Amino acid sequence: MATVTQVTRTCDVCGTAEDVLTWTFQLDSKTYETDLCPIDGKGLNEVAAGYIAKARKVTGRQGRRRAAKVITVRPR
Ligand SMILES: [Zn+2]
Repeated sequence: MATVTQVTRTCDVCGTAEDVLTWTFQLDSKTYETDLCPIDGKGLNEVAAGYIAKARKVTGRQGRRRAAKVITVRPR
C-alpha cells in the first residue's frame, strides 16, 4: 500500500493555508523564517518599509563595516 504525506503550510500569524510563502529576514546577524499569507506578508513589508523610509541609505564597504543591525526581508 502506498502512503501519501501531504504538507500544508499555514500562515504563522492568521493560520490560513492559501498562497502562503516562507519569508526570511535577518536582524543582528540572525536569520529568521516565517510563513505568511499575502496579507501578512504585505504587513511585514509595510512595517519594514516604514523604517526604511526614515533611514539613511548606506552603500559600499564602509557602510557594511559600520552596520550594527541588519534587516533584510524577502519571500522565498
Ligand atoms: Zn496570514
